[in-house]
Amino acid sequence: MNKKTFIYIALFGFTIALLSFIPKSGNVIQKHTLRKIVIDAGHGGKDYGATGKYSSEKDVSLSVALKLQELIQAQMPDIEIYMTRTTDVYDKVTEKANKANAAGGDLFVCIHCNSSEVYHRTITGYKKVTTKKHGKKHTEKVPIYSSVRVPSEVKGTETYIWGIKKNNDKAKALSENESMFMDSSLINEMKDFDPEDPAKMVLYSLKTKQFLDRSFNLANTIEDEFAKSGRISRGAKQRNEKGIWVLQAVAMPAVLVETGFISNEEEENYLNSPTGQTETAQCIVNAIKRYKYTLENKISHSTGN
Ligand SMILES: [Zn+2]
Repeated sequence: MNKKTFIYIALFGFTIALLSFIPKSGNVIQKHTLRKIVIDAGHGGKDYGATGKYSSEKDVSLSVALKLQELIQAQMPDIEIYMTRTTDVYDKVTEKANKANAAGGDLFVCIHCNSSEVYHRTITGYKKVTTKKHGKKHTEKVPIYSSVRVPSEVKGTETYIWGIKKNNDKAKALSENESMFMDSSLINEMKDFDPEDPAKMVLYSLKTKQFLDRSFNLANTIEDEFAKSGRISRGAKQRNEKGIWVLQAVAMPAVLVETGFISNEEEENYLNSPTGQTETAQCIVNAIKRYKYTLENKISHSTGN
Protein backbone atom coordinates (compact mmCIF):
# COMPACT_ATOMS: atom_id res chain seq x y z
CA MET A 1 0.00 0.00 0.00
CA ASN A 2 1.35 3.42 -0.82
CA LYS A 3 1.76 6.19 1.71
CA LYS A 4 -1.28 8.18 0.50
CA THR A 5 -3.65 5.20 0.73
CA PHE A 6 -2.32 4.44 4.19
CA ILE A 7 -2.96 8.01 5.34
CA TYR A 8 -6.53 7.89 3.95
CA ILE A 9 -7.19 4.61 5.71
CA ALA A 10 -5.67 5.91 8.92
CA LEU A 11 -7.75 9.11 8.78
CA PHE A 12 -10.88 7.11 7.98
CA GLY A 13 -10.20 4.86 10.92
CA PHE A 14 -9.48 7.79 13.16
CA THR A 15 -12.79 9.44 12.22
CA ILE A 16 -14.74 6.22 12.80
CA ALA A 17 -13.06 5.72 16.13
CA LEU A 18 -13.71 9.21 17.36
CA LEU A 19 -17.11 10.03 15.87
CA SER A 20 -18.83 6.68 16.04
CA PHE A 21 -17.70 5.25 19.31
CA ILE A 22 -16.69 7.87 21.80
CA PRO A 23 -20.14 9.51 22.06
CA LYS A 24 -21.86 6.12 22.47
CA SER A 25 -19.44 4.69 24.98
CA GLY A 26 -18.70 7.70 27.06
CA ASN A 27 -15.10 8.25 27.91
CA VAL A 28 -13.17 5.69 25.89
CA ILE A 29 -9.76 7.10 26.62
CA GLN A 30 -10.26 7.31 30.37
CA LYS A 31 -11.79 3.98 31.34
CA HIS A 32 -10.57 4.56 34.84
CA THR A 33 -7.62 6.32 36.37
CA LEU A 34 -5.70 4.45 39.02
CA ARG A 35 -7.15 1.58 40.97
CA LYS A 36 -4.63 -1.23 40.76
CA ILE A 37 -0.83 -0.98 40.75
CA VAL A 38 1.40 -3.87 39.79
CA ILE A 39 4.72 -3.76 41.64
CA ASP A 40 7.52 -5.81 40.17
CA ALA A 41 10.69 -6.45 42.18
CA GLY A 42 13.36 -6.92 39.51
CA HIS A 43 15.25 -10.22 39.08
CA GLY A 44 14.95 -12.95 41.77
CA GLY A 45 15.96 -16.56 42.44
CA LYS A 46 18.82 -17.64 40.16
CA ASP A 47 18.86 -14.18 38.57
CA TYR A 48 20.84 -12.00 40.98
CA GLY A 49 20.89 -8.88 38.82
CA ALA A 50 23.73 -6.51 39.63
CA THR A 51 25.92 -7.18 42.65
CA GLY A 52 27.66 -4.85 45.04
CA LYS A 53 30.28 -5.57 47.67
CA TYR A 54 27.95 -7.62 49.84
CA SER A 55 24.44 -7.47 48.40
CA SER A 56 22.50 -8.32 45.25
CA GLU A 57 20.03 -6.35 43.22
CA LYS A 58 17.40 -9.10 43.53
CA ASP A 59 17.31 -8.69 47.35
CA VAL A 60 17.50 -4.89 47.41
CA SER A 61 14.74 -4.56 44.80
CA LEU A 62 12.52 -7.00 46.74
CA SER A 63 13.01 -5.08 50.02
CA VAL A 64 12.20 -1.74 48.36
CA ALA A 65 9.21 -3.28 46.51
CA LEU A 66 7.79 -4.72 49.76
CA LYS A 67 8.29 -1.36 51.48
CA LEU A 68 6.52 0.33 48.57
CA GLN A 69 3.60 -2.07 48.93
CA GLU A 70 3.41 -1.37 52.69
CA LEU A 71 3.50 2.43 52.27
CA ILE A 72 0.89 2.50 49.49
CA GLN A 73 -1.44 0.30 51.53
CA ALA A 74 -1.05 2.64 54.51
CA GLN A 75 -1.26 5.95 52.64
CA MET A 76 -3.49 5.16 49.64
CA PRO A 77 -5.96 2.58 50.99
CA ASP A 78 -8.21 2.79 47.91
CA ILE A 79 -5.43 1.40 45.73
CA GLU A 80 -5.17 -2.32 45.13
CA ILE A 81 -1.67 -3.79 44.84
CA TYR A 82 -0.52 -6.81 42.90
CA MET A 83 3.05 -8.02 43.56
CA THR A 84 4.74 -10.10 40.82
CA ARG A 85 6.85 -11.62 43.60
CA THR A 86 7.06 -11.34 47.39
CA THR A 87 9.84 -13.89 47.92
CA ASP A 88 13.16 -14.78 46.34
CA VAL A 89 11.79 -16.55 43.25
CA TYR A 90 12.76 -16.49 39.60
CA ASP A 91 10.26 -15.76 36.84
CA LYS A 92 10.96 -15.11 33.19
CA VAL A 93 10.09 -11.54 32.19
CA THR A 94 7.40 -12.95 29.89
CA GLU A 95 5.87 -14.59 32.96
CA LYS A 96 6.01 -11.30 34.86
CA ALA A 97 4.30 -9.46 32.00
CA ASN A 98 1.59 -12.14 31.78
CA LYS A 99 0.98 -11.90 35.52
CA ALA A 100 0.72 -8.09 35.33
CA ASN A 101 -1.74 -8.23 32.42
CA ALA A 102 -3.80 -10.99 34.05
CA ALA A 103 -3.98 -8.88 37.21
CA GLY A 104 -5.46 -6.03 35.14
CA GLY A 105 -3.26 -3.29 36.57
CA ASP A 106 -3.54 0.39 35.71
CA LEU A 107 0.13 1.01 36.37
CA PHE A 108 3.29 -1.09 36.37
CA VAL A 109 6.14 -0.07 38.65
CA CYS A 110 9.32 -2.05 38.31
CA ILE A 111 12.03 -1.76 40.99
CA HIS A 112 15.70 -2.26 40.12
CA CYS A 113 19.12 -0.93 41.00
CA ASN A 114 21.88 0.20 38.76
CA SER A 115 25.50 -0.85 38.44
CA SER A 116 28.51 0.77 36.92
CA GLU A 117 31.68 -1.25 36.74
CA VAL A 118 35.02 0.34 36.24
CA TYR A 119 37.95 -1.83 35.19
CA HIS A 120 41.51 -0.63 35.50
CA ARG A 121 44.12 -2.37 33.33
CA THR A 122 47.46 -2.76 35.03
CA ILE A 123 50.76 -4.40 33.97
CA THR A 124 51.48 -7.34 36.24
CA GLY A 125 54.65 -8.61 34.51
CA TYR A 126 56.36 -9.31 31.19
CA LYS A 127 56.69 -12.33 28.95
CA LYS A 128 58.92 -13.15 26.00
CA VAL A 129 57.19 -13.66 22.65
CA THR A 130 59.04 -15.05 19.63
CA THR A 131 57.82 -14.29 16.12
CA LYS A 132 59.25 -15.12 12.69
CA LYS A 133 59.82 -12.29 10.26
CA HIS A 134 61.42 -12.78 6.79
CA GLY A 135 62.72 -16.15 7.96
CA LYS A 136 64.41 -14.63 11.01
CA LYS A 137 63.38 -15.32 14.56
CA HIS A 138 62.60 -12.26 16.58
CA THR A 139 62.06 -12.27 20.34
CA GLU A 140 60.58 -9.40 22.27
CA LYS A 141 59.35 -8.65 25.77
CA VAL A 142 55.63 -7.87 25.99
CA PRO A 143 53.66 -6.78 29.05
CA ILE A 144 51.11 -9.01 30.80
CA TYR A 145 47.94 -7.11 31.67
CA SER A 146 45.29 -7.84 34.23
CA SER A 147 41.97 -6.09 34.81
CA VAL A 148 41.01 -5.03 38.29
CA ARG A 149 37.47 -4.00 39.17
CA VAL A 150 37.45 -0.81 41.15
CA PRO A 151 34.46 0.76 42.89
CA SER A 152 32.59 3.14 40.64
CA GLU A 153 31.92 6.66 41.79
CA VAL A 154 28.77 6.90 39.68
CA LYS A 155 25.63 7.29 41.76
CA GLY A 156 22.03 8.49 41.61
CA THR A 157 18.58 7.42 40.52
CA GLU A 158 17.11 6.99 37.03
CA THR A 159 13.57 6.17 35.94
CA TYR A 160 12.96 4.52 32.59
CA ILE A 161 10.03 4.18 30.24
CA TRP A 162 9.95 2.00 27.13
CA GLY A 163 11.85 3.19 24.08
CA ILE A 164 9.87 5.11 21.50
CA LYS A 165 10.94 2.51 18.91
CA LYS A 166 8.96 -0.05 20.90
CA ASN A 167 5.60 1.70 20.50
CA ASN A 168 4.43 -0.98 18.03
CA ASP A 169 5.12 -3.70 20.60
CA LYS A 170 3.19 -1.71 23.19
CA ALA A 171 0.23 -1.33 20.78
CA LYS A 172 0.35 -5.11 20.21
CA ALA A 173 0.23 -5.72 23.98
CA LEU A 174 -2.80 -3.41 24.15
CA SER A 175 -4.55 -5.21 21.28
CA GLU A 176 -4.15 -8.48 23.19
CA ASN A 177 -5.54 -6.99 26.41
CA GLU A 178 -8.43 -4.79 25.27
CA SER A 179 -10.47 -5.25 28.43
CA MET A 180 -7.76 -3.48 30.40
CA PHE A 181 -8.40 -0.12 28.77
CA MET A 182 -11.68 -0.31 26.84
CA ASP A 183 -15.18 -0.22 28.29
CA SER A 184 -17.09 -3.47 27.86
CA SER A 185 -19.71 -1.56 25.81
CA LEU A 186 -17.02 -0.47 23.36
CA ILE A 187 -15.52 -3.95 23.15
CA ASN A 188 -19.01 -5.20 22.38
CA GLU A 189 -19.56 -2.59 19.68
CA MET A 190 -16.25 -3.43 18.04
CA LYS A 191 -16.36 -7.20 18.51
CA ASP A 192 -17.03 -7.94 14.82
CA PHE A 193 -14.15 -5.75 13.69
CA ASP A 194 -11.11 -7.44 12.27
CA PRO A 195 -8.15 -7.05 14.69
CA GLU A 196 -6.29 -5.27 11.88
CA ASP A 197 -9.16 -2.88 11.24
CA PRO A 198 -7.88 0.72 10.96
CA ALA A 199 -10.40 1.94 13.55
CA LYS A 200 -9.03 -0.54 16.05
CA MET A 201 -5.44 0.21 15.08
CA VAL A 202 -6.06 3.92 15.66
CA LEU A 203 -7.53 3.25 19.09
CA TYR A 204 -4.51 1.13 20.06
CA SER A 205 -2.14 3.77 18.79
CA LEU A 206 -3.99 6.60 20.61
CA LYS A 207 -3.91 4.55 23.78
CA THR A 208 -0.21 3.77 23.35
CA LYS A 209 0.54 7.48 22.98
CA GLN A 210 -1.52 8.25 26.07
CA PHE A 211 0.25 5.54 28.10
CA LEU A 212 3.62 6.85 26.92
CA ASP A 213 2.69 10.37 28.09
CA ARG A 214 1.44 9.06 31.43
CA SER A 215 4.53 6.92 31.95
CA PHE A 216 6.84 9.81 31.15
CA ASN A 217 4.87 12.09 33.45
CA LEU A 218 5.24 9.59 36.31
CA ALA A 219 8.92 8.94 35.54
CA ASN A 220 9.62 12.68 35.70
CA THR A 221 7.63 13.02 38.92
CA ILE A 222 9.50 10.12 40.58
CA GLU A 223 12.84 11.71 39.67
CA ASP A 224 11.57 15.07 40.95
CA GLU A 225 10.72 13.43 44.31
CA PHE A 226 14.16 11.80 44.49
CA ALA A 227 15.81 15.16 43.84
CA LYS A 228 13.63 16.83 46.49
CA SER A 229 14.69 14.20 49.04
CA GLY A 230 18.35 14.99 48.42
CA ARG A 231 19.25 12.12 46.07
CA ILE A 232 21.16 12.68 42.86
CA SER A 233 18.58 12.39 40.09
CA ARG A 234 19.92 11.30 36.70
CA GLY A 235 16.49 11.94 35.17
CA ALA A 236 13.67 10.19 33.34
CA LYS A 237 14.89 8.27 30.31
CA GLN A 238 13.98 5.98 27.46
CA ARG A 239 15.96 2.84 26.79
CA ASN A 240 15.68 0.24 24.06
CA GLU A 241 18.09 -2.43 25.22
CA LYS A 242 17.66 -5.58 27.31
CA GLY A 243 16.02 -5.56 30.68
CA ILE A 244 13.28 -3.16 29.79
CA TRP A 245 11.22 -5.44 27.52
CA VAL A 246 8.61 -5.92 30.23
CA LEU A 247 7.69 -2.21 30.04
CA GLN A 248 6.31 -2.50 26.52
CA ALA A 249 4.80 -5.95 27.14
CA VAL A 250 2.35 -4.82 29.81
CA ALA A 251 -0.89 -3.20 28.66
CA MET A 252 -0.69 -0.26 31.06
CA PRO A 253 1.51 2.77 31.76
CA ALA A 254 4.84 1.44 33.02
CA VAL A 255 8.03 2.74 34.62
CA LEU A 256 11.25 1.10 35.77
CA VAL A 257 12.94 2.77 38.74
CA GLU A 258 16.69 2.36 39.11
CA THR A 259 16.82 3.17 42.82
CA GLY A 260 20.56 3.78 42.96
CA PHE A 261 23.93 2.24 42.11
CA ILE A 262 24.67 -0.95 44.03
CA SER A 263 28.21 -0.69 42.65
CA ASN A 264 28.71 2.51 44.63
CA GLU A 265 29.61 1.83 48.26
CA GLU A 266 27.60 4.71 49.68
CA GLU A 267 24.48 3.86 47.70
CA GLU A 268 24.81 0.13 48.40
CA ASN A 269 24.79 0.94 52.12
CA TYR A 270 21.86 3.34 51.68
CA LEU A 271 19.78 0.85 49.67
CA ASN A 272 20.43 -1.88 52.26
CA SER A 273 19.46 0.33 55.21
CA PRO A 274 15.87 0.49 56.52
CA THR A 275 16.04 4.31 56.28
CA GLY A 276 17.23 4.22 52.69
CA GLN A 277 14.58 1.68 51.69
CA THR A 278 11.80 3.66 53.38
CA GLU A 279 12.93 6.99 51.90
CA THR A 280 13.25 5.47 48.42
CA ALA A 281 9.79 3.87 48.60
CA GLN A 282 8.29 7.08 50.04
CA CYS A 283 9.61 9.12 47.09
CA ILE A 284 7.86 6.70 44.72
CA VAL A 285 4.62 6.88 46.77
CA ASN A 286 4.72 10.70 46.72
CA ALA A 287 5.13 10.61 42.95
CA ILE A 288 2.27 8.12 42.53
CA LYS A 289 0.02 10.42 44.61
CA ARG A 290 0.88 13.35 42.34
CA TYR A 291 0.37 11.16 39.24
CA LYS A 292 -3.04 10.02 40.49
CA TYR A 293 -4.06 13.61 41.24
CA THR A 294 -3.01 14.66 37.72
CA LEU A 295 -5.10 11.87 36.15
CA GLU A 296 -8.14 12.57 38.28
CA ASN A 297 -8.02 16.29 37.65
CA LYS A 298 -7.00 15.89 34.00
CA ILE A 299 -4.19 18.36 34.44
CA SER A 300 -2.17 18.65 31.29
CA HIS A 301 1.50 18.06 31.83
CA SER A 302 4.65 18.59 29.92
CA THR A 303 6.48 15.55 28.65
CA GLY A 304 9.71 17.44 28.19
CA ASN A 305 12.86 16.64 30.07
ZN1 LIG B 1 17.97 -4.84 37.10
